[in-house]
Amino acid sequence: MNEVILIKVGEIVLKGLNKRNFENQLIKNIRNRIKKYGEFEIKISQSTITISSLNETSNIDDIFPEIKKVFGIARLSKAIVTQKSIDSIKETIKDSLGSTLISVKTFKVESKRADKKFHMTSPRISEEVGGFILEQFPNLAVDVHNPDIVITVEIRTFNAFIRLGDEPGAGGLPVSSGGRAALMISGGIDSPVAGFMMAKRGIALTAVHFASPPYTSARSEKKVIELVEKMSEYAGGIKLFVVPFTQIQEHIKRYCPEELFTLIMRRMMMRISEKIALDGNCKALITGESLGQVASQTLQAISCTDAAVSMPVFRPLIGMDKDEIIAIARRIDTFDISIQPFEDCCTVFVPKHPKTKPNLCDIEDAENKFDWDEMIKSAVINSKVMYVEQ
Ligand code: ATP
Ligand code: MG
Repeated sequence: MNEVILIKVGEIVLKGLNKRNFENQLIKNIRNRIKKYGEFEIKISQSTITISSLNETSNIDDIFPEIKKVFGIARLSKAIVTQKSIDSIKETIKDSLGSTLISVKTFKVESKRADKKFHMTSPRISEEVGGFILEQFPNLAVDVHNPDIVITVEIRTFNAFIRLGDEPGAGGLPVSSGGRAALMISGGIDSPVAGFMMAKRGIALTAVHFASPPYTSARSEKKVIELVEKMSEYAGGIKLFVVPFTQIQEHIKRYCPEELFTLIMRRMMMRISEKIALDGNCKALITGESLGQVASQTLQAISCTDAAVSMPVFRPLIGMDKDEIIAIARRIDTFDISIQPFEDCCTVFVPKHPKTKPNLCDIEDAENKFDWDEMIKSAVINSKVMYVEQ
């Protein structure tokens, strides 16, 4: 039996003249995703991607769940390939789907012709194949409204595909088709979800994490690496910068009013992330902030944070409730890692009464109490860089 995976691309079909670039990026991402599972051939024609195995040890059942995580795919299914004749379609259904067909009661045949020159119309193919199935499997009846299974016959240029149902893909656009941005990732629940959402819109990720040893431990750094590994299942390989932040935090604590600690710290993080982003061809920053969730995420606080940088800052969770964010974190499997109780640098020096309506002039005055410019340059230079493979 010659089985293949059939992929219907998503929004890419609407991309007009750019469509080719999006398709090429999607194929590249699929190839990277499945390369460790063996050798496969990937072809595209008429907005359908077909993947087939090139040898006995490469199994399409192994790659199916992997491909479900690749952005840019609307639907996918496994299909059997056969010759483009009504007799071989009938034979293939009898031989390959027999065990499934004896275990159900009702069915329906749907036919499509990508090759409009085929000598039968789609309704005729469905009628002919349906009649054959009724003859061969007396246990079955046709139900066009609510069948137990739908058998789809697709007539293409060189062959015919037969498949049983399809499944939703990950949606979105192929990662990298929309450029690259720097994700500020803590060990919390929100930032991995923010990274996932931007990757879904076609953005490749560079991750930036701030660590403040000895206040934060090696274990909390490992937790962030685990989160980045999980994200890479969807977002592809990710370069992670771990930035030493202790010196800056200690200076903020010594020189700035306590009520402004968190905001000034966040502005320093933004400045450092922007430098890393510019060096790494990133065009935006991404954070996991959600409006009003904590004092540093009020509208006034966010506008002060943004004033520290000139790059666009994407906050894909801005209008979401915690419950909604958690539901996504569970779905992408980052939740259980995020709730492990390891300290984050933000939780080391937490002001008792943070300002919820800060004023930018007060913040700038406080920041001018120490020479942070050299410190942020040295933090960038002394970052530890690792590459997390997908
Ligand atoms: P998260 O769940 O992502 O930690 P949060 O709701 O706890 O978010 P904060 O701790 O206030 O919010 O952080 C807001 C955002 O700032 C985070 O979503 C993240 O993008 C960034 N951030 C916070 N701490 C760090 C860190 N140690 N390294 C890198 N980015 C950070
Ligand atoms: Mg946090």
